[in-house]
Amino acid sequence: MNTFSVAEFRRQFPILQKLNKDSGLIYFDNAATTQKYKAVIKTSQNFYQESNANVHRGSHFLSAKATKSFEIVRLQVQTLINASSEKEIIWTKGTTESINLVAQCYGLSNLKSGDEIVLSQAEHHANIVPWQNLASQTGAVIKVIPLDKCGRIDLVQAEQVITSKCKVLAVNHISNVIGKLNPIKELIALAKNVGAKTLIDGAQSIAHSSIDVKALDCDFYVFSAHKMYGPTGVGVLYGKEQLLEQMPPYQFGGEMIKKVSFTGTTYNSLPHKFEAGTPNIVGVVGLGACLELFSKSLLSDLQAYELSLCEYTYLALSKVLGLKFLVDQQPDIPLFSFTIENVHHHDVATFLDSKGIAVRSGHHCAMPLMELFDLDGSVRVSLAPYNTFAEVDELIKQLQQFSLGENTEKLPVSTQPSADNLTTINQDEILNLFSNAKSWDLKHRQIMLLAKELPRIDKQLRSDNDLVNGCESSAWLKVSINETSHQLSFVADSDAKVIRGLMVIILSVYQHKTAEQIIAFDINAYFSQLGLMQHLSPSRGNGIKAIVERIEQLAATHL
Ligand code: PLP
Repeated sequence: MNTFSVAEFRRQFPILQKLNKDSGLIYFDNAATTQKYKAVIKTSQNFYQESNANVHRGSHFLSAKATKSFEIVRLQVQTLINASSEKEIIWTKGTTESINLVAQCYGLSNLKSGDEIVLSQAEHHANIVPWQNLASQTGAVIKVIPLDKCGRIDLVQAEQVITSKCKVLAVNHISNVIGKLNPIKELIALAKNVGAKTLIDGAQSIAHSSIDVKALDCDFYVFSAHKMYGPTGVGVLYGKEQLLEQMPPYQFGGEMIKKVSFTGTTYNSLPHKFEAGTPNIVGVVGLGACLELFSKSLLSDLQAYELSLCEYTYLALSKVLGLKFLVDQQPDIPLFSFTIENVHHHDVATFLDSKGIAVRSGHHCAMPLMELFDLDGSVRVSLAPYNTFAEVDELIKQLQQFSLGENTEKLPVSTQPSADNLTTINQDEILNLFSNAKSWDLKHRQIMLLAKELPRIDKQLRSDNDLVNGCESSAWLKVSINETSHQLSFVADSDAKVIRGLMVIILSVYQHKTAEQIIAFDINAYFSQLGLMQHLSPSRGNGIKAIVERIEQLAATHL
């Protein structure tokens, strides 16, 4: 019988108590990082207060104590994934570093020109770029396995792609965009048949399934502690001992040596050979504290709860007007990627943020997958077992209202290449609007209303030369000068409504000004008066900076 209580589980995550009480925050960005388990926070603090010393090298009591706390976690992780020996567990700073380590230490000494590295269409950049780098170092070639209709790695197609030229197969266990378990046991078997080595990116699977590396018979399995309720800055590389033995070290320095002289150095044995320098001791100890969540019985309770949450959310999302999932059928973990008809994904995410719901929007570090779908991004909602059905209901309510509002509203489209497409709204009016809008919800509403002041430019009039670099959603900016008054006029547009609104705010101070006035204007002071920047995500903040820089560059050409 499932005795799992979400209320009880939630209490184990202090940030949820606090954020919920202070601002009613609903956290649905768990695939990016999970919230931290109380025991992880407590253990980390206790370690600094009671056991802090460097590990392995100290000749005193405290160092022995710290080393014991640190090394015991290696044994626990060995048990967690059923590795044969603790020598097979290497600490890294995360999945990305684990993959880089394998690409460089295994790949560089074993691959040659013409060999093939096989990936899937749905890899995270962390499982693409290190292999591309290896390919450029060795002359090896990247091959890609397509997905089936439901977004899983297609086994039939895999058989065609994994040939005797394949030397490494590196694929995800669960994609961070699609949320479906891939048939990795079968894929590993295909790779073994042709003598290729296998690396499984378990970043998204480790928190949701039990992993048995012996049963899988993969050569490498990698994951990050921060996606399993543990600390940031710690990751695991599992590798078969025999392979790790053959591989050269990754980085060089202390810890990874046996003996150093100016005539030469001998390296330490496994696992320390791959752990140069002082490791993230408290991170590893913190990871140890979250492993109690992965006991067989609790994990199966968590999985059962997640599944019911997954079914419920999938059905509810399916009913939202204009919502389209990226792939067919319900995901295996509660991770949903979708678009909403006629609305930019950033606008959906910014709207939800203004309602206290944290979701992810963008390419999710999976640009080749977005290319396949012919999208520049999507919305991603990813849940953890501390999320509740009531939170899902709130998400659905907000999405329904948003989609209904957006899909009934028609924006004017300007087909004339006019000097500027902005109705004159000035700085004082903007300041006035924002001084009355105290909360982020109200400010967000103002930005979206202002977006209506910027008629869309006909697609044919948007030129690639006018694209603003550094803005995550496409934004166009064109300038012309009045030869008599020397004032500059801007035409602006963006796919994202939130960016159009922000463009109106920016142009309220730059439109019809001379180049000298534009360069002299203190935009940062203006933004702080509006109280906006602290609410914008780093990527949106950078987008705004990119637009301002572009305006200043354009102005500089007219000085
Ligand atoms: N692989 C997948 C599937 C991921 O989802 C992520 C992170 O989102 C990574 C790799 C990279 O993980 P990290 O940033 O912890 O190194």
